[in-house]
Amino acid sequence: MTSLLPLDKVRAAAQIISKANKVVILTHIAPDGDAMGSSLGLMHWLESLSPSMQCTVVVPTLYPDFLAWMPDAGRVVNYDTDIPNVLRLLREADTIICTDFNEPKRIAGLGERLTETLELNHTPCILIDHHLHPADFADVVFSYPESPSSCELVWRLIRALAALQDFPMFNCPLSLSAATCLYTGMMTDTGNFSFNSNRADMYEIVSELVRIGVDKDAIYNRVFNAYSADRMRLVGYCLHHKMIIIPDYHAALIYLKRKELYKFNFHSGDAEGIVNMPLQIKDVYYSCFMREDKVLPAELPLAGGSHIKVKISMRSQGDRPVNEFCHSVFRGGGHKNASGGEFYGPIEKAVALFNQNYANFFLQS
Ligand code: 5GP
Ligand code: MN
Repeated sequence: MTSLLPLDKVRAAAQIISKANKVVILTHIAPDGDAMGSSLGLMHWLESLSPSMQCTVVVPTLYPDFLAWMPDAGRVVNYDTDIPNVLRLLREADTIICTDFNEPKRIAGLGERLTETLELNHTPCILIDHHLHPADFADVVFSYPESPSSCELVWRLIRALAALQDFPMFNCPLSLSAATCLYTGMMTDTGNFSFNSNRADMYEIVSELVRIGVDKDAIYNRVFNAYSADRMRLVGYCLHHKMIIIPDYHAALIYLKRKELYKFNFHSGDAEGIVNMPLQIKDVYYSCFMREDKVLPAELPLAGGSHIKVKISMRSQGDRPVNEFCHSVFRGGGHKNASGGEFYGPIEKAVALFNQNYANFFLQS
């Protein structure tokens, strides 16, 4: 499928990148390993092309602590806390690259800024993503929902560009920093190669990345063995006190109010992975995790006046999609077995919506 990206699109991307000097790379709200990996990986590669290349990764909201070790994560600009700087960067950019999101809404308030910039300045824009239904905003679109991660797509694009004989500038080795970033997203978006991970060619890429020097064991430890004691206690609380099982529909639901999160000194990233846990139970195939959160400045355009947001995460197994549920019930979306959405209002209303709708979407068999 993605082993050969279409040559016409690769050439269109090459035309844009070969003229680029000031690049802004955007990725989605609440960035995960694939968002950070694809954007930072691309940044490291672009910066290795020419000493004059200025490249900035901009996130709509801050990344979690467990990704702060990623090479040059400290240079990432957060729109939520530095709007004037981001507006300047967008204004001055000669190229914009979007990774790991399919529509401007997924970058919250930054989405309007992106759309304005593209309309006013006609800045060339490339989209590299693996979510369904990309919105029509970029000039060159690499959209492959069947790809397990955006990092893998970035790797394929870099390789395809390097193979263009009339663009020798792209034929440069991938640095260890770039390789480390790309490996991180390939690992996190497949749950350390435990889902969406049956294709052999993916391991050929992993093999190349390890050959470059990627320390995959260290990356695993930094990402998955870096929790606080508070977070482990939060997990215990969720599983002991908060997990609701719906046996007829093979489903589990965990939801947390803000005051419960405070008790565990909650930090961004602490909820990571909790949604997967109920799937370890025999005969549970759907899992939903919801938590209340405050509405960040970058999200105000989406919040409709509400000061409380509910973040919904869903996971499922096999041929039981959750993206349609998230899309219809929570205006979200995602992948077949890993999706999410948001609800602006108190969590009881989000739970009521879940309860009213799951029977229409979940299989009983
Ligand atoms: P997570 O549960 O890890 O936050 O998200 C899992 C996947 O669901 C993400 O990779 C993303 O594709 C999708 N997703 C999560 N939240 C949203 C949302 O609010 N809107 C949309 N469209 N997709 C989401
Ligand atoms: Mn992704």
